[in-house]
Amino acid sequence: MECLWCNAPNVEESEKKDCYWIMPDGKRSIKVLQVPALNCPNCGIYVSDSMNQKVDESLSIYDVSEYPDEFTYEQLLQAPVKKLFNWK
Ligand SMILES: [Zn+2]
Repeated sequence: MECLWCNAPNVEESEKKDCYWIMPDGKRSIKVLQVPALNCPNCGIYVSDSMNQKVDESLSIYDVSEYPDEFTYEQLLQAPVKKLFNWK
C-alpha cells in the first residue's frame, strides 16, 4: 500500500507502535502498546488516522477501568463492553 502522508509506495503494515492516549473523558492518560502501525521510509513509523479513530472508539466502547495504565491493543479489544453503551 501507499504511505498516507507522502504517497511513497511499499509502505509496510507489519509495524507496531506504543502510543500514549487520553481517555475520552479526559480524566486518565494511558499507554496502548503494540498498536498496528505503518512503516514509511520517508515518514517513519506512524499510526494511521483510521487506526487512531479505531482506538478512540474502542476506548469509549470497552471498559478498561480495571486495566493498568499500560495495556496492549489486543487486550483493549478483549475488554468487556461498557454496560451503559447503547448500540445503535
Ligand atoms: Zn510517507
